[in-house]
Amino acid sequence: MSDLEFFGHIIDGAEVGSVYGARFDTVNPWTQAPWAQVALGGKAEAVMAVDAARRAFDSGPWPRMSYQERYAIIMRLADLMEAHTDELAAADSHDMGKPISQARHDVARSALNFRFFAEHAKLATGEALPMGDGYHSYTRFEAAGVVVAIAPWNFPLMLETWKVAPALAWGNTVVLKPAEDTPTSATILGRLAIEAGFPPGVLNVVHGYGPDSVGSALTEDPRVDRITFTGESGTGRIIGRAAMTNLTPVSLELGGKGANVVFDDAELDNAVHWAVQAIFRNAGQVCLAGSRLYLQRGIHDEFLTRFVAAAKALRFGDPADPATEFSCLASQEHFEKVRSYVEDVEATGGRMLTGGVGEGWSVLPTILVDMPATSRQVCEEIFGPVVVVEAFDTEAEAIALANSTPYGLNAMVFTENLHKAHRVSAALKAGTVWVNCFFIRDLRAPFGGVGDSGVGREGGSFSREFFTEPKAVVMQITPA
Ligand code: NAD
Repeated sequence: MSDLEFFGHIIDGAEVGSVYGARFDTVNPWTQAPWAQVALGGKAEAVMAVDAARRAFDSGPWPRMSYQERYAIIMRLADLMEAHTDELAAADSHDMGKPISQARHDVARSALNFRFFAEHAKLATGEALPMGDGYHSYTRFEAAGVVVAIAPWNFPLMLETWKVAPALAWGNTVVLKPAEDTPTSATILGRLAIEAGFPPGVLNVVHGYGPDSVGSALTEDPRVDRITFTGESGTGRIIGRAAMTNLTPVSLELGGKGANVVFDDAELDNAVHWAVQAIFRNAGQVCLAGSRLYLQRGIHDEFLTRFVAAAKALRFGDPADPATEFSCLASQEHFEKVRSYVEDVEATGGRMLTGGVGEGWSVLPTILVDMPATSRQVCEEIFGPVVVVEAFDTEAEAIALANSTPYGLNAMVFTENLHKAHRVSAALKAGTVWVNCFFIRDLRAPFGGVGDSGVGREGGSFSREFFTEPKAVVMQITPA
C-alpha cells in the first residue's frame, strides 16, 4: 500500500474508496512524480452517487429547506473554504502545476461563487402577472432535481464551484465529477461540505475517467435532471447526444479561440498588460485565452516589441514558489499536444519571435507571426501559451478576422474611441466581449459561448433558469 495521501469519493455524506478498492495516482507535473492517490470510480460508483443524490432530493431536507437555512449552510462552506485556502490551493497547484499565487486567487473566487449564488437565490423574486380579466398568474422557480456537473482541469475548484454553487443554492442535489488530472480539491470541497452541515447525498463527488467510465455513466443515467459540462467541444458533442437520449437539459461550456483586437488608438501599456494576461496566465490553459492577436498597422511594430519583452520577463519556475508567474503545463499528455504546435512552425512558413519548448513539461510564452491562415496554430484551440499575431488595416477587416472561427466564447477590443468600442463589440461573434480589459467577471452576467464554444448561458439569473424548473401558476379570481 502506498504511503501517499489518499483522496476518496464523497458519497451520501461520507468519504469512501471504490467498491473494489481501485485507485489511481495523481501526478505533479512540475516534479513529474505522483503526489497523491485517488479513488478510481466506474459505473458502480456513479450509480451509487446518483442513488444518494436522488434520495436526498426526493425525500431529504435540502430541497424543502427555506432559502435562509440553505444560505446559512452554504455560507459556512464558503467560510471553511477560505479557512482552508492553503490546502485547497496546494491541491490544484500540485495536480496541474498552476502557480500557487494564482491557485490562491482561484480559491477566493471559488468561495465567492458560493457566497454570490447563496445571496442571489435568497434575494431572487418571482413575477406576478395581473391579467385584468378575472385571472392572474405568477412564476415559481422550483429546484430541478439531481444535477450532474462535469468539470475540466484548467481551473479545477473555480469551475466546479461555478456549477455546484448555483445548483445547490436553488435546492438541487449534485454529483460532481472533477477531471481525472485534477481530482483532489473536489474531495477537500466534499469534506468541507460535510463539516459545514450539508445533509448526506446533497453534494457527492465521484472520481474517474470520462468515456466508458464515471463520466459516461453519469451522463447516460435517466434519473439525472440536469447536466452541466465544461470541457472540449468534441466531448460536449458526445455529452449533448447522451443528454438528448434522455431529454435531459444540458449546459455546455466549451472551447475557444479568443480574438484580441488592438486598434491604433489603444492605450498601449494597458493593452500590452492585458494581452500578456490573456494568453500567458495559467500557461495559456484558459478557454478564454486571447490566442489570436490582431494589431492595427500603426501600432503593430511598437506593440510587438513591448509584447515580446513582457512575455520574456514573466518569471518562470516552480509553481510552489509564490513569486512564480508562469510554470509547466498540466500533464505530460498535454505538454506533448502543445509541443506539437510549436515544433512545426517553420515548416508552415511562420516565425517564432520568442518561446518554444522549455524545461520539463513546459512550453515557454510563445509568439508566432507570418502564420498561414489555414495553419493548425491559427485555426485550432492549442490551450497553451501560444499566440498567433497578425496585422490589419481597417475596422471591417479586424471584425472579419476576429469572427473567422467556428468558436465564439469571447473577444477583447482595445481602443480609446467610445463609438468604435460599441460598434465592434456589437459586431463580434462572442459570448463575452472585454473592452480595454480581460478576465474581469460579473457573476450576474451571462457566461457562455456561440457556435462551437457552447450551448446555453450560466451566471446570475441565467443559472437560475438552468438549475430550476420555472413554473407558471394561473389563478382565477372569482368576483365577490
Ligand atoms: P475534456 O473535454 O477532455 O474533459 C472535461 C471533463 O469531461 C473531464 O472531467 C473528463 O473526464 C470528462 N469527460 C471526457 N469524456 C467524457 C465522456 N465521454 N462523457 C462524460 N464525461 C467525459 O476537457 P479538458 O481537457 O479537461 O479541458 C480543456 C477544455 O475545456 C478546453 O477545450 C477548454 O477550452 C475547455 N474549457 C471551457 C471553458 C468554458 O467556460 N467554456 C472553461 C474551461 C475550459
